[in-house]
Amino acid sequence: MTDAPINPANATLPHPRRVGYQGQPGSFGARAAARGGVPEAFPSFEALLAALGSAEVDAAVLPAVTRAAGPLVEPLEALASVLAGGRKLFVTGETAVPIRFVLAAPRGTAVEAIREVHSQAPVLRQCRKLVERLGATFVEAADTALAAELVAREGGPKAAVCSEEAALAAGLVVLEEDVSDVRPNATRFWILETADGVERRRSVAPLRSEVDEAGLDGGLPLPAPLEPRVVWFAGARRAAVLADAGAEIVSLPGHPDAPVRGFAVVPEKACSGVAVRSAGGTEPPLLWLGSPPDFVRPPRVAGLPLATEVREPVTVAVGRLVLGCGNRAMIAGPCAVESEEQIHRLARAVARSGATALRGGVFKPRTSPYAFQGHGLLGLKWLREAGDEVGLPVVAEVMAPSQVEPMSRLTDVLQIGARNCQNYDLLKECGGAGRPVLLKRGFGTTVEEWLASAEYLLAGGVVDVILCERGIRTFERATRGTLDLGGVLAARSLTHLPIIADPSHAAGRRELVPGLARAAWGAGVDGLIVEVHDTPDAAMCDGPQALQPADLDALCDEFGLLPGESGSVERIRTSIDAVDRGIGALVARRLELCRRVAAAKRVTGRPIRDEEREAAVKARFAAALSTVAPGPGAARLADTLIGLGLEVEGWGSGEEATRR
Ligand code: PEP
Ligand code: MN
Repeated sequence: MTDAPINPANATLPHPRRVGYQGQPGSFGARAAARGGVPEAFPSFEALLAALGSAEVDAAVLPAVTRAAGPLVEPLEALASVLAGGRKLFVTGETAVPIRFVLAAPRGTAVEAIREVHSQAPVLRQCRKLVERLGATFVEAADTALAAELVAREGGPKAAVCSEEAALAAGLVVLEEDVSDVRPNATRFWILETADGVERRRSVAPLRSEVDEAGLDGGLPLPAPLEPRVVWFAGARRAAVLADAGAEIVSLPGHPDAPVRGFAVVPEKACSGVAVRSAGGTEPPLLWLGSPPDFVRPPRVAGLPLATEVREPVTVAVGRLVLGCGNRAMIAGPCAVESEEQIHRLARAVARSGATALRGGVFKPRTSPYAFQGHGLLGLKWLREAGDEVGLPVVAEVMAPSQVEPMSRLTDVLQIGARNCQNYDLLKECGGAGRPVLLKRGFGTTVEEWLASAEYLLAGGVVDVILCERGIRTFERATRGTLDLGGVLAARSLTHLPIIADPSHAAGRRELVPGLARAAWGAGVDGLIVEVHDTPDAAMCDGPQALQPADLDALCDEFGLLPGESGSVERIRTSIDAVDRGIGALVARRLELCRRVAAAKRVTGRPIRDEEREAAVKARFAAALSTVAPGPGAARLADTLIGLGLEVEGWGSGEEATRR
């Protein structure tokens, strides 16, 4: 056989881009690298930069700045020392990877039992709150994925903070999700290349339009004429010039020779000015790591600092309504306040169910001018009195700027309706109301526009904004709106504000409301707002979508919300029944798992009883019940469960008795 002739076309095809990163497969670095080509792992930043220098990889991604903890000292120091050695590297772009750290441990480890948490030092700096809360010792690892592997291998009361992928790959179980101090967290990776690499790539680069069509625009930037942008500096005077020019200063810890030093990202327009003003002087010259301005991806929502800059998630608390930071609430009531008697009656039903705020419209935005328009301020007075009677804060829609002041006197939470989401005069007027605002998303409003409306409220002086997805208008006519849970999740990644969902207006039909409520709850909303009526056929507004009070009871029970203190024995018993059904199913599941674990223990020759583990189980129940049953009750419950488990596991049969 003869060799196949060399195809000259093949010879000129570029090989796939190899993009190096520090860490293990499954790490965030791997994810950043995969955006630009075939990821290649390196054990250290030094090894990564050396590989870039020797053209072993075409580019390298280096984590530079995190939203939660600022500059990442270790990788930037490695870069600084390569530069100090005279090597020329370019920062040709930046790619931001959303970061979600989870707390993960071997199956069966209780959060309370954790004594050691393993992770990379910079990761631990982004999870300080978790660190404090667990009261555990922190053990540094080279990489988050390695930390996960070590924890999985060694077992014991250890956990790792790592990506979900790394946790799953190591066989760990996720105990807590999204444990960073701020939300949304992200790491900005700088994309590094050598001059040769940039040249080579320029010669084989496809046209920009081809890449856009291929949908690759979110990947590594394309070559363009290099313009200086990222710069290494040392000295206070240089830092002052950069700061003056509006550069982002990424400082590194100083040392005696260079107390002030670091990197800076210079805005495009300021580059030449900075270069001129930094010429001469006694401080080291600026070292530019050229990067054309349009290589750097802009922030995802530009110009909405109050709504989308990184902040701690907030809790909104008005009386019994507490939303956000893990607090999830139900707001319920009729679409419209129809009469004094009606709202008092429904307020009692809502309070009994487990909802912690009462809704009711008094100015109603109706499509037809002939439909019931609401009882106005008189209706608001009834709503206020009904809320006071049952101890619930009240939520009512404000439709016009002139209504803001009189309504805010009697309303705990002002609602901006979907139709007014972009009524900017109304949004501005709410700033002076001194009340939290529940901002519905308009049915033709993008997530970004919705956040821009929230920005109006925040900029105007509203302290607490609650976002509410209530269904957008799509081609679909089977439902009144399309509950955009994708939009909810997208908004959640962009803002610290609490987000709730309104399944009633999205569904338009009562029978679809519980399902949508569950879907939204499962997507992690901070709460729900639902419409309730006890005679929906006679309702003056939105009757077909109103839940009956008993449906609301069932939803509250399903979501684990406690019925109101005012509940009758019967109401509270239905809730207890729901809990008992849950416990029954959980105990059955636990026993089945005990049966399986016993089988697995026999296969591997492990003893059936494990005292250390029994102690951990007891500690878990003691912690869970510490406030409601601080005495020996929790231990008795644990003993009972462990005893039941051992029965299922066959402990005490002759076989086991002789093994120990
Ligand atoms: C309402 O909550 O009664 C209402 C009118 O809602 P939306 O503005 O979402 O249509
Ligand atoms: Mn309604």
